[in-house]
Amino acid sequence: MPDYSPLKDRFGEHCRFGEGAAGFTTYRAGGAAEVTVRPGTTEELLWLAGWCRAAAVPFLVLGRGSNVLVSDRGLPGVTALTERLDRITISGGAIEAQAGAAWDEVARLSAEAGLAGFEKTSGIPGSVGGAVRMNAGAFGQETFDRLVSLDAFDRQGKPVRLPKAGIKFGYRSVGGLDGLTVLSARFELPAGDKAVLIQDRSCVLAARAAKQPLDHPSAGSVFKRPPGDYASRLIDAAGLKGLRIGGAEVSGVHAGFIVNAGGATAADIYALMQEVRARVKAGTGVELELEQILLGEF
Ligand SMILES: Cc1cc2nc3c(=O)[nH]c(=O)nc-3n(C[C@H](O)[C@H](O)[C@H](O)COP(=O)(O)OP(=O)(O)OC[C@H]3O[C@@H](n4cnc5c(N)ncnc54)[C@H](O)[C@@H]3O)c2cc1C
Repeated sequence: MPDYSPLKDRFGEHCRFGEGAAGFTTYRAGGAAEVTVRPGTTEELLWLAGWCRAAAVPFLVLGRGSNVLVSDRGLPGVTALTERLDRITISGGAIEAQAGAAWDEVARLSAEAGLAGFEKTSGIPGSVGGAVRMNAGAFGQETFDRLVSLDAFDRQGKPVRLPKAGIKFGYRSVGGLDGLTVLSARFELPAGDKAVLIQDRSCVLAARAAKQPLDHPSAGSVFKRPPGDYASRLIDAAGLKGLRIGGAEVSGVHAGFIVNAGGATAADIYALMQEVRARVKAGTGVELELEQILLGEF
């Protein structure tokens, strides 16, 4: 095992050993990360990545862990959690947000500033970095709709600014970001009617509360929308609502979600994902593609 004491010396209580994935993912399941670090500044995040590079230690960056499933075998090396890098500034129609800022704060503050374009993405529980990485979206609005540029650093620690035009993106997919750690994103939004935007936001939050199993841990939709259809419709039509493996269950509220119904292991959740895919394929011929990201060994 590498000597991690320089990390403890530098980050103190923000450096932990053996923290279970229940502590940093919304599935509240999975094994432990060898080391988790929550840097307080972008300089600290850069330093941490550089230290990992020099020590040949695996380095992974996560936001709120709301789109990942961590293996029960855990994560080797250092997992950097961006949650303390949460500054958001609004000036005119421009929004600059650090990677660890909550996406929902961007949605809330932009609506309250009378800026249109993110109100329908209200309630997505990820970070700005995760939203950009996934091109997160809802109800017809996506992160990339209003993106201007990203600031990031590459595997060598070199800073890069990527204009939107230089990034390939599509539905819940973004190309060319592998090996990049996003530090911040810049957006431009047009002016809208503040009262309408705030009302739209409230409607979206109410719709989420009504239609999603927010009382149980999950990582949102498990599968991407297949062309011309909805994964949840196919799963529901296959009669899979309530299907259970160990502590993992296909939500009875929204068939597109797998929830941790109590004490689920990552293996339970993974096995249920496979079972749902196989049964939908057998019943309809449609191959569902995973939206969620598997981390570690499965
Ligand atoms: C209840 C619920 C509802 C949801 N609803 C929606 C929805 O409506 N629409 C939607 O699109 N998603 C939804 N999601 C999924 C999830 O919230 C989004 O995908 C979100 O954008 C993930 O952000 P995160 O910070 O949690 O990313 P994480 O899960 O932490 O990471 C996801 C990926 O992004 C990478 N990443 C994270 N931060 C950085 C960074 N700074 N630099 C480089 N890479 C980074 C990680 O390495 C990983 O590969 C939902 C999830 C839940 C639990």
